[in-house]
Amino acid sequence: MVVVDCSGAESVMADLASYVSERLGGRALPILKGKKIVFDPVSGEGPTVREVASIVGSFLHEKSLEAKYRVSEEGESVCVTSVSGGGETGRRGLPPNLFMCTHCGFATSYEELYQQHVRIHYV
Ligand SMILES: [Zn+2]
Repeated sequence: MVVVDCSGAESVMADLASYVSERLGGRALPILKGKKIVFDPVSGEGPTVREVASIVGSFLHEKSLEAKYRVSEEGESVCVTSVSGGGETGRRGLPPNLFMCTHCGFATSYEELYQQHVRIHYV
């Protein structure tokens, strides 16, 4: 299970979650938990931290956000931090314990319900 910590990059986290899950070809389901995206393997071996970090890197490259955010690997986590530091103003992150579907915007505070829901997009 790989965690992407988006503290300081909350405004791109929904985009990032769907981008990474697409690149992983549905091998792991993104679960948004507060400021973190948890990639839960669907079956067998999930993606590695290195793999997710490199996909996050291409996301920033494609969106021309490389100057704004930095990607680093820390243990089992990939950290996306704002270069200017101090987090972002304006947009707030999701409240803790709210799971949001990156495919259609469906949101629930029940993890089981969320996981059940997300699977319909991979059938
Ligand atoms: Zn959905």
